[in-house]
Amino acid sequence: MRIAVISDIHANEEALDAVLGFLDAEGVDRTLCLGDVIGYGPAPSQCLAKVRERCDVIVAGNHEHAILDLLDIDYFNPLARQATVWTRGQLSEEEFEFIRGWPLVHHEEQFSLVHGSLDQPDLFDYIQTTWDAHLSFQQLQSPLCFIGHSHVPVAFLLTDVIRYSTDDTIELHEGLQAIINVGSVGQPRDGNPASSVVIYDTQKQRIDWHRIPYDVEAVQKKIRDCGLPEFLADRLAEGR
Ligand code: ZN
Repeated sequence: MRIAVISDIHANEEALDAVLGFLDAEGVDRTLCLGDVIGYGPAPSQCLAKVRERCDVIVAGNHEHAILDLLDIDYFNPLARQATVWTRGQLSEEEFEFIRGWPLVHHEEQFSLVHGSLDQPDLFDYIQTTWDAHLSFQQLQSPLCFIGHSHVPVAFLLTDVIRYSTDDTIELHEGLQAIINVGSVGQPRDGNPASSVVIYDTQKQRIDWHRIPYDVEAVQKKIRDCGLPEFLADRLAEGR
């Protein structure tokens, strides 16, 4: 089975369409989503409709918890706060209900899904160091954990020690546990503006990151037209 894992779409419909088109061509069997479907971008309802149709599991991100008032937006940077207030005004009651149904963590036999970290998922901490990864590995009951949140594709690999890898392929094997950051569909921050998506091949026991270019200018125009902060448009061209 080939399983696609996507994250941090951030209401960027152009990026989501490009990624879903790529996954159609690849013929993946399942698509899982790690949250932050909304926030920052101009097309929250459109993106919610598409993940609802397409993804068989969706876990909640910090932007969903902010929208639902489960997370204090005083902790958000001013841009995220402004985008949260704008996004709240765009959503229907029914869309709020849909988001409210998303769990923080999802476990299967071979993997767990969480937006930020496994140790305290409701705090949405970032896994950026091997120590951060250690705290989540302590909670991990299966070989794999897929995460998003930092918008930077990376893997933490645990054998007897924890290693950090930015290779675009990971071969899995007995005795290895891995935390896989799939990167961001709608707002990459690793200097590459192309959308990031992971495909997990359960037969080959292999994980591959793919980068999918999309029409950045089209979404930049929409961001400006709906009065969201200019920087949210500018950053997409640079992937920062
Ligand atoms: Zn995010």
